[in-house]
Amino acid sequence: MSPSRPTPFPSELYGGRLTIDLEAIADNWSFLDSKTDARTECAAAIKADAYGTGQDRVAPALFAAGCRTFFAAVPTEAIELRRLLPDAVIYVLDGLFPGTAEHFLEHRLRPVLGSLEELAEWSDLCKAAGQSFPAAVHVDTGIHRLGLSATQFADVMTDKAFLGPFEASLVMSHLACGSAPDHPMNRHQLDRFRQITAPVPHIPKSLANSAGILMGPDFHFDLVRPGIALYGGKALDNAPNAMKPVARVEARIMILRDVPQGDTIGYGATQTAPRPLKNAVVAAGYADGMLRRASSSDGRPGGFGMIGGHRAPILGRISMDMITLDVTDVPPDLLARGALVEMLGPDVAASDLAAYAETIDYEYLTSLGRRFERVYARLS
Ligand SMILES: *Cc1c(COP(=O)(O)O)cnc(C)c1O
Repeated sequence: MSPSRPTPFPSELYGGRLTIDLEAIADNWSFLDSKTDARTECAAAIKADAYGTGQDRVAPALFAAGCRTFFAAVPTEAIELRRLLPDAVIYVLDGLFPGTAEHFLEHRLRPVLGSLEELAEWSDLCKAAGQSFPAAVHVDTGIHRLGLSATQFADVMTDKAFLGPFEASLVMSHLACGSAPDHPMNRHQLDRFRQITAPVPHIPKSLANSAGILMGPDFHFDLVRPGIALYGGKALDNAPNAMKPVARVEARIMILRDVPQGDTIGYGATQTAPRPLKNAVVAAGYADGMLRRASSSDGRPGGFGMIGGHRAPILGRISMDMITLDVTDVPPDLLARGALVEMLGPDVAASDLAAYAETIDYEYLTSLGRRFERVYARLS
């Protein structure tokens, strides 16, 4: 299989390997699609290079699985996506950047219009062309990022002169607290979305990201926009993750060494060996997406790697190009110079690592290394 980016070097020259399982991504899409009924379309959020997994490989795989509507974040991503998928519907979540409408038309992209200024610009374009080009309208139901306010939306929807020229192919909003299904914000936003969109029953509606899909049919409307769950991430904080893992990061052991009790490990001497330790130093660091905030220090545990089912905790600071792991409790026959250690993947959930790094698995995925060998293959 040819990798997303050219991999011109022999494997053993890489500090690590990133394996992406396209079939698992397609399976995750089918699973999410099966969670909604037949009148709801399952789209895909494919921004940030398909959450770090490689849009050029992932987009065709999702299309082959049956996905027909895609959400990029910025126009550049969307234009690249159009080259890959000539027949898909492509929305640009960040909306219409000033003066870029011509590019949207050229590549048949649909902006998600998030302000009155954007709406006016798109309307003018349609008027000038004498043609009604499709676009989504974003309404704000409480996240206060992009989107028309309820009042703006109400005004616009009754103003034929304003809305008339273009085709509103979708009206959407975005959940602020989807990962916490019990948060009252979810119901509040659902109610607001229903109220705001009640006057436009003819326009298809969309509210749910991955979390929204898992929160049940009330949130589904006509189209759902999963991202993180496609890529194996954990959409709901307090529920088991039903998605298949899609990515594995393995880092190469450069050296195995003994550290005497009381000596310190790494930059800043933040971690003292509480007992004599066996360490493995692996060739991956924060420049490869192994977030530095998952470092350990005395009194604060860090992330971990896994070797043949055995846990190898991170010791001290994560450096740019290397991480020290505690392999004291790993059977010696599993340890060898050159061997690969799983740093993220089926045995090391990104959401678990994220808890140590005080972040979310989204950040791990979208930070994944550009320096690793990249392989598209099944994980299991
Ligand atoms: C990123 C994004 C999504 C996908 O969200 P996930 O939580 O990754 O499922 C859906 N809608 C909008 C507006 C987004 O920005």
